[in-house]
Amino acid sequence: MKTITILGATGSVGSSTLDLVERDPQAFQVIALTANGDVDKLAAAAIRTRAKRAVVADASCLDRLRDALAGTGIEAHGGADAVCDAARMGADWTMAAIVGTAGLKPVMAALEAGGTVALANKESLVSAGDVMMAAARSHGTTLLPVDSEHNAVFQCLDRTAPRGVARIILTASGGPFRSMPLEAMQNITPAQAVAHPNWSMGAKISVNSATMMNKGLELIEAYHLFPVRPDQLDVLVHSQSVVHSMVEYVDGSVLAQLGSPDMRTPIAYALAWPERMETPCERLDLAKIARLDFEAPDYERFPALQLAREALAAGGARPAILNAANEVAVAAFLDGRIAFLEIAAISADTLTRYDPAAPDSLDAVLAIDAEARAHAAERVKDCVV
Ligand code: NAD
Ligand code: MG
Repeated sequence: MKTITILGATGSVGSSTLDLVERDPQAFQVIALTANGDVDKLAAAAIRTRAKRAVVADASCLDRLRDALAGTGIEAHGGADAVCDAARMGADWTMAAIVGTAGLKPVMAALEAGGTVALANKESLVSAGDVMMAAARSHGTTLLPVDSEHNAVFQCLDRTAPRGVARIILTASGGPFRSMPLEAMQNITPAQAVAHPNWSMGAKISVNSATMMNKGLELIEAYHLFPVRPDQLDVLVHSQSVVHSMVEYVDGSVLAQLGSPDMRTPIAYALAWPERMETPCERLDLAKIARLDFEAPDYERFPALQLAREALAAGGARPAILNAANEVAVAAFLDGRIAFLEIAAISADTLTRYDPAAPDSLDAVLAIDAEARAHAAERVKDCVV
């Protein structure tokens, strides 16, 4: 029996993970589930899975969580430190599915605790890739990518011959505005931006997909996960989201992973690895799909992609600044305080504001993140929608 902890259990990835875990109660035992403040969903999941502990990051929700769990024997905890404590309880397998920078400390705690960490929180690798990968190595922790593209690459990568890899090609759906003219993009609303054509995801990543910042962040994520240089990473727009990514080898072979757009496939791969488990995901009917389309990305209409490429090439603190500024800008866009095209503009502007040294610890990353947030928040104030 595998012991499981899910950080961010009430979100899109967290719920898909619970769905798989609950299908096989003989195989998995839940240790801890965490959420920000969705007490009802968290308590219900903890009771269904007979978890040992449930944690709300928002401490003001702890009393309600205690009430909801009264008489069940499940421990209730609250606060950001309590989320990290849950990550240290020593589960065999931890799903890191908190959204945004809030996930960094819990991911670090899980990496330091050992076992296997299934990583959905890409922000950890974007902002703190060097620090996180070093922590995984020094604690002997197995880090498995859950992001569908990176999971696809992981499945296609021949780890016995890393020098045989020529390129990693991340596919991108292009989001809902793939073919919208630039003039029309200024008026995009939050409701339009979160309606992804193929995937059902949390609000922030859906907006990131719409700006293609998501693919930019994924380039940085891939750089940390796989043995390639930045110039060996490419993006290919593939609107059907059937091919989840590819690895090209020096002999000209290209290996791809295909599947229906359902996060339960990559999550299941990480959950069962190195074996496989069954999922209820829809099977691919390639005869029905009939054709697969690919096109080069448009860096002009999607400047976020270019910003991320530059941050990756420059390295150091740049990716952390980009990630923090984008997070502030996306939250402001979702709140109706800035227009869609200002998300990338604010990120670009924040990158020009300061140039700190490369971070050598998680605390240094968080200091860079905080300063970038302050700059980005100033820029948000200047915007009038
Ligand atoms: P979501 O918004 O649906 O869920 C986020 C989870 O994090 C929730 O459980 C929420 O309670 C928790 N959370 C939010 N703020 C928190 C805080 N301050 N402290 C502690 N917990 C907090 O997000 P999601 O779409 O499931 O995405 C989660 C992560 O996985 C993101 O990093 C995203 O980029 C990545 N990811 C998601 C998908 C997808 O299909 N949704 C695919 C690939 C990667
Ligand atoms: Mg992805």
